[in-house]
Amino acid sequence: MNSKEIIKQEEEYIIHSYGRVPVALSEGKNATAKDADGKEYIDFTSGIGVNCLGYSDEGWVKAVSEQAAKIQHISNYYYNEQNTALAEALSKATGMAKSFFCNSGLEANETAIKIARKFGEKRGAYKIITLENSFHGRSFATLAATGQDSFHKDFLPLLDGFLYAEANNLDSVEAQIDDEVCAVMLEMVQGEGGVIPMEESFVQKLAKLCAEKMILIMVDEVQTGVGRTGSFMAYQGYGIKPDVITLAKGIANGLPMGVCMVSEELKDILQPGMQGSTFGGNPVACAGALEVLRRVNDEMFLREIEGKAAYFRHELDKLPQVALVRGKGLMLGIAVKGKTAKDIMLDCAEAGLLVLTAKDLVRFLPPLTITKEEIDRGLEIFKKVLAK
Ligand SMILES: *Cc1c(COP(=O)(O)O)cnc(C)c1O
Repeated sequence: MNSKEIIKQEEEYIIHSYGRVPVALSEGKNATAKDADGKEYIDFTSGIGVNCLGYSDEGWVKAVSEQAAKIQHISNYYYNEQNTALAEALSKATGMAKSFFCNSGLEANETAIKIARKFGEKRGAYKIITLENSFHGRSFATLAATGQDSFHKDFLPLLDGFLYAEANNLDSVEAQIDDEVCAVMLEMVQGEGGVIPMEESFVQKLAKLCAEKMILIMVDEVQTGVGRTGSFMAYQGYGIKPDVITLAKGIANGLPMGVCMVSEELKDILQPGMQGSTFGGNPVACAGALEVLRRVNDEMFLREIEGKAAYFRHELDKLPQVALVRGKGLMLGIAVKGKTAKDIMLDCAEAGLLVLTAKDLVRFLPPLTITKEEIDRGLEIFKKVLAK
């Protein structure tokens, strides 16, 4: 089928819950993708920060296909070596104690919310503070955790027990704290909310405050984790030790996987029967994630991310139409003068470059393995689109 036919079929048979860009992708290599008509695109999206090793990475394809040929799914009645090896590798890479495996970001955050509720249960603490402009998912608990009315408005009433504070404002968080608060959940760089980095002093003071008040600090690393911001986990760049972290997006380079990790103090908080997931810890997804960890959790690899990020910023800062660049590592938000982010996204796609938006910003989340040549080709197209 050509692109036109695919788009027509989508309109007929898929529930219209997405505002899609009219591009039908069919194959790719690293940060270069091809559509169904053979047209090439430079990809600054990596499937919303998912394909951290890019498209059809050789090592990842080998790991995943070998595991698929061996045993693909076993349920959580049984043990599996891919599963346990990944949990060990994650603990060693993050300093967290234990993992729970699931399939998506929202599911990882649901698990974190359940852990927080369980943690506060005995003393009647059930409220969770999140930040304005945060994004934590679209299930009822994670929707309530998301501090953006635009996501809430069609689905009221929300799940009870969520309070919202202003990002980078400790007083605002403190004002929400009472005896019924059991946790604070936040992103180190708010992704969907507009690529807004938390300030180091805010995060450090918040972690201290939480520790004093017996409140868990839970870091949603779904978008920022796995090298995206230049450290393996974004919180590692802030010098804090969270009680809970959640991962998804980049962890398995495109296979559905979510992880909720807990600190030593919380390692036994969930007991058999309290949380589960049929596909969670699927051996094929775990094999993919093991390859991701092996490659990304490497000093040289992480240093190259910083180098690429600096190069992006340097080149973007030169463009007269760019009003502002913010973010961390290869998570970049760009404010452009005179044109909406959505129009730029559509014009870029037409011209052969895939970019995202976040609120009113253009957002880049390229694969971490993007080459200098691919960056240059993409920025060349971006420049042309802005100049038009
Ligand atoms: C994408 C995202 C989620 C939701 O992940 P899904 O896999 O779509 O459920 C949660 N938190 C953050 C920070 C995200 O960027």
